[in-house]
Amino acid sequence: MQKLKNYINGELTEPVSQAYMDNYNPAKGEVYSLIPDSDERDVQKAVDAAKAAFPIWSGFSNEERSELLLKISQLIEKNLDRLAEAESLDNGKPVWLARKVDIPRAASNFHFFATAIEHFASESHIMGSEVVNYTLRKPIGVAGCISPWNLPLYLFTWKIAPALAAGNCVVAKPSEVTPMTAYLLSELCIEAGLPKGVLNIVHGYGNKVGAAIISNPDIPLISFTGGTKTGAEIAKTAAPMFKKLSLELGGKNPNIIFADCDFEEAMKTTLRSSFTNQGEICLCGSRIYIEKSIYEKFRDELVKRTRAMKVSYPTDPEAKLGAIVSEAHKDKILSYIELAQEEGGKILCGGKQIHLEGEYKNGWYIEPTVIEGLDHLCRTNQEEIFGPVVTLHAFETEEDVIEYANSTTYGLSATIWTQNLSKAHRVAAQVKSGIIWINCWLVRDLRTPFGGMKNSGVGREGGWEALRFFTEAKNVCVRL
Ligand code: NDP
Repeated sequence: MQKLKNYINGELTEPVSQAYMDNYNPAKGEVYSLIPDSDERDVQKAVDAAKAAFPIWSGFSNEERSELLLKISQLIEKNLDRLAEAESLDNGKPVWLARKVDIPRAASNFHFFATAIEHFASESHIMGSEVVNYTLRKPIGVAGCISPWNLPLYLFTWKIAPALAAGNCVVAKPSEVTPMTAYLLSELCIEAGLPKGVLNIVHGYGNKVGAAIISNPDIPLISFTGGTKTGAEIAKTAAPMFKKLSLELGGKNPNIIFADCDFEEAMKTTLRSSFTNQGEICLCGSRIYIEKSIYEKFRDELVKRTRAMKVSYPTDPEAKLGAIVSEAHKDKILSYIELAQEEGGKILCGGKQIHLEGEYKNGWYIEPTVIEGLDHLCRTNQEEIFGPVVTLHAFETEEDVIEYANSTTYGLSATIWTQNLSKAHRVAAQVKSGIIWINCWLVRDLRTPFGGMKNSGVGREGGWEALRFFTEAKNVCVRL
């Protein structure tokens, strides 16, 4: 069985413990490879390598760093099929989705920040004719990057690329649930000729490797994407050490559908924002608020189209939804569907685990599920499920729907559907989410600030925000 390795100091290495853990194929529910069960000793080796590499890497010109990162981007593109198949095997998502979204975006992340760094400029502030302030922006040192399992290579590279472009060295940990493409990325970095120690990838459990990265005194900045509870744990350790922190956390996103929307566009996109990637995207809309006058029409059509969505093994080109990432996550989603019923919800479609046939009979599949009849304050509507489950609600006024939309502790994204632009802007300004889509969903310009309000996170990623996060600002004041 294939054994993955850590990538430390430019080499693929065994974990110090020599211990490995199982890596599952969710489509079949069986182990297909082994992951290093690393610990703080591997993290320390990675930190030592990154510290040693930092003076060299940060001393490279922007152009030199850019060139290497562009090479990695090109290698990801060249290996598109292999990486997409690996991502799908590891995560359970349809292989067409990994080929269309995950892997091209990973290549774009490197391409985007490789070119962005060449245009990155710092500020100057002139006081009258006698004083000039200018801001120096320097890389900080060793950055710790920790990412989740839902968009494995996509989110892993979204952190690593700006950190490296800005001149930092990196110690990174992918989710132990989906480590494969991060491992393949380490092979590509070696092929690209990335100097040793610049990027280090340590595999293992969050509470061992992740925790060791967070508490390591030689890692002064942490970029984390994952659950809100984990984010709080991380902040507890990192805040008293005064580490720079970027936290991209969970969501419970509202879709607001006004009666004057373009019905067909809103319907098609709502299906996607509900069930793409099995609903395992932090930006999926899971609370769907529909204006009363079109509630029945929208509900019936959504249910009809949801019933027609094919749940299948990931290599089936017809699969709209693939497998759920792990057995534990599958059980969590099913427990929320049960809770919804206890809370008075009516399942309009779906609601059950699916058992496929043949070699996929032990895989973890769940029907796309639509529920109505719940109070907007019940647990099902307040807690993140992170699966193919949405709830429907009718609303009467703009004020009401804004109140419902803002009723959770989360504030990541929201979608608004209306043809009335004044109303769209008015509502967008009042919904407390870091990202608002009007008449669209998941349209991404990598220059825009990305992140959440309230319990959905602290800080913003993307564009200059990311390059500012990965550099330290120093003001220099000169009297002329
Ligand atoms: P987790 O919080 O469980 O894990 C995220 C990462 O943190 C994993 O690599 C995990 O390792 C690691 N980790 C776990 N515990 C610790 C710890 N104590 N110290 C340091 N690292 C730790 O999230 P999931 O992987 O379950 O991902 C799903 C969550 O991510 C959802 O809440 C989703 O909304 C959120 N998310 C947010 C996004 C955003 O941009 N705001 C985007 C995508 C997802 P291991 O896997 O080994 O436990």
